[in-house]
Amino acid sequence: MSPFTYRGGELHCGPVSLRDIAAEAGTPVYVYSASAILERFLAYERAFADAPHLVCYAVKANGNLAVLKLLADAGAGFDIVSGGELFRVLKAGGDPSKVVFSGVGKTADEMALALRHGIHSFNCESLPELELLSQVASSLGSRARVAIRVNPDVDAATHPYISTGLRQHKFGIDIDQVERTYHKARLLPALLVEGVSCHIGSQILDTTPIEEAAAILLTLVEKLRAQGFAINALDLGGGLGVPYQAGQQRPEISAFAGALRRLASGAGLTLMVEPGRSIVAEAGVLLTRVLYRKSGAAKEFVIVDAGMNDLIRPALYQAHHEILPVAEAPAAILADIVGPVCETGDFLAHARSLPDLHPGDLLAVATAGAYAFAQASNYNSRPRPAEVLVEENSFRIVRRRETYDDLIRGETVGCAVR
Ligand SMILES: *Cc1c(COP(=O)(O)O)cnc(C)c1O
Repeated sequence: MSPFTYRGGELHCGPVSLRDIAAEAGTPVYVYSASAILERFLAYERAFADAPHLVCYAVKANGNLAVLKLLADAGAGFDIVSGGELFRVLKAGGDPSKVVFSGVGKTADEMALALRHGIHSFNCESLPELELLSQVASSLGSRARVAIRVNPDVDAATHPYISTGLRQHKFGIDIDQVERTYHKARLLPALLVEGVSCHIGSQILDTTPIEEAAAILLTLVEKLRAQGFAINALDLGGGLGVPYQAGQQRPEISAFAGALRRLASGAGLTLMVEPGRSIVAEAGVLLTRVLYRKSGAAKEFVIVDAGMNDLIRPALYQAHHEILPVAEAPAAILADIVGPVCETGDFLAHARSLPDLHPGDLLAVATAGAYAFAQASNYNSRPRPAEVLVEENSFRIVRRRETYDDLIRGETVGCAVR
């Protein structure tokens, strides 16, 4: 159930009034529910409980330190895609031995950092990457545990920008070539080739394609074992979708995990998953304030203080986010909700039925806990919003709003280097 509900005609996060948060923290501001995040993580833990497993939260969905700390304290592992994300996980007290490192473009420095901290394993995506990782591990006198990311050529049936498991995508190694790569990897001196992994995409509402991919990977595990590989882990990535739109069905974590467990039963594998969106998306909203109303010749506009630099998903993925008035009232207008950024692509929503809004009124952009603040930028020299975490009946600012000084940190008007 969503933590955001109306109480006495006002939108709340649990027992905390969003109006109070806006008054304290200003707008735009991201608001996350700690209990909602934990509930979703624990749903994964419960679903895999009596089998060997590792749930690695995908940091890129929402890397706020307080969010990571919450999950680290609950025992989560982490899926990282950069050295910066490892830095965050360590700062938040995450256990490096539960960290998997994914991504197509790891640098030698990032590999060395991860090896020095003793991460769980690397999901490798090409032969040159495997060769470099072996070199880096050798130079540190260590060995790297690796899984090879397979591209199973399965259609995740999601938005093209977040579909990753088809042959034409840059991710993973083609299922038809991957056995050869395993054999080459085995000859590299500082690698322990122990896993098989994939991640076919994100915002997947029908989990059949992930189950298809799992079946393909399990066949591969059998073949590899027959050839003497000691494969002990199967990582199926993340990808479970969430309902962004009223009426969309949420895939159930328990049903999804149950299907994976049935497929892999008896295989003696540690099952790994890397959920991001399905843990944090529904736990967050972006609170924004109405600046102006404007009636164009063809359209009604509500201009708010949050723009595409704060939330780029509508512009980037044609994403739909429900817009909720903080003060509950019957719909009276049909309007586009747009931000202050100088781009026609700067909109939060098109053609929505909303109450008769006035300057100063508050709106909540729903389902904004994932890939939202994480993709915020300073475009138009706009300081990034604050972030607030609601715990029980109180809230705290877990990232202060940026200042103008933050905008120019690291910049100078220039001095000669030589
Ligand atoms: C983005 C990503 C995830 C998380 O995906 P969600 O759809 O947010 O669950 C997991 N694994 C890898 C390798 C990713 O790139």
